[in-house]
Amino acid sequence: MELFKVLKKMGHEEVVFRNDLSSGLRSIIAIHSTVLGPALGGVRMWKYNSEEEALRDVLCLSRGMTYKNAAMGLNLGGGKAVIIGDPHKDKSEELFRAFGKFVESLGGRYITAEDVGTCKEDMNYISQETSYVTGLEGKSGDPSPITAYGVFLGIKACIEWVFGSDDLKEKTVAVQGLGHVGMELARLLYEAGASLIVADIYPERVKKLQRKFPEVQAVEPEKIYGVWCDIFSPCALGAVVNENTVEQLKCKIVAGSANNQLEDDALAERLSQRGILYAPDYIINGGGVINIAEELTGLPYNRERVLSKLSVIPMRLKEVFHLSLSENITTVKAAEIITSKRFKVRGN
Ligand code: NAD
Repeated sequence: MELFKVLKKMGHEEVVFRNDLSSGLRSIIAIHSTVLGPALGGVRMWKYNSEEEALRDVLCLSRGMTYKNAAMGLNLGGGKAVIIGDPHKDKSEELFRAFGKFVESLGGRYITAEDVGTCKEDMNYISQETSYVTGLEGKSGDPSPITAYGVFLGIKACIEWVFGSDDLKEKTVAVQGLGHVGMELARLLYEAGASLIVADIYPERVKKLQRKFPEVQAVEPEKIYGVWCDIFSPCALGAVVNENTVEQLKCKIVAGSANNQLEDDALAERLSQRGILYAPDYIINGGGVINIAEELTGLPYNRERVLSKLSVIPMRLKEVFHLSLSENITTVKAAEIITSKRFKVRGN
């Protein structure tokens, strides 16, 4: 990879590598932008197949955080870190304390948090070496219920745009994935009167929901794309809207919590041609980052205040839908234009 060419194209400010011989830490921190404030983004620990794969991941994820934080109206930039290693085998106190020192060495330009492969315990070790860590035990806690509520508000904004009313009664939502976010989202939707069709690769998760709400229908995971519904809500993995699935969709709206739902941005055009409204993922799933950012205000954590801040999600989505309609561009493009206004500087 010609790193500086890539950094110029993607607009990164700084990429830092740490090779700590004593703990075995191999980590990369990518700071995409500090225009709006310190770069906030989690640390991912993953068994990457190559160093290049780890580098590409941290570059893409950190850029995504700039957009997410800017879209949520936060005065925070975007960054991310990766630790190369197997989270099931390679974790130790020494490793995470070495990572904490790495974060500290950046003097607050990067603030870390949990991500795939890291957990509360790891954050506690990191916090022994740096104060630039958030999402700690006893503070803002698990962001998933807040993320789910943000997605719920986002879905209401979508149906209002498409159907003229935000009433979920007589609407059918297909929820893919009943994990931390999907399960709570399903509850909120059900209690608001929506009919649900759900799928999860773990049948016990489906049964758990059906025990509570017996009317909920379930389908096999690969069938969820083709069910008749008003809203398809991906709450499992990324890249679920792809060449194999895009033509199967029978919904009017795609709106869910999963990161990177479109396998590539060109699929936004295909959805639009098929008359399907797409809610850009980094806007609709931004509740989690609002929750975490609350810790950085220095005020005692207040759930009601966080919930009230989620109104930015439907508001931002409506701005995006208006721009997309008036300029005849996809919602992905419209979201990029609206969001990047907050952090664009000359030259990027
Ligand atoms: P999770 O791991 O708790 O839940 C994911 C669920 O999806 C699991 O129940 C899993 O069994 C299921 N699943 C996996 N593959 C599937 C498939 N092919 N078909 C159907 N179900 C499948 O994760 P989560 O925390 O609920 O997050 C869900 C998504 O939302 C992820 O993409 C995550 O990156 C994104 N997200 C989460 C948060 C948050 O606050 N947790 C914030 C922003 C974005």
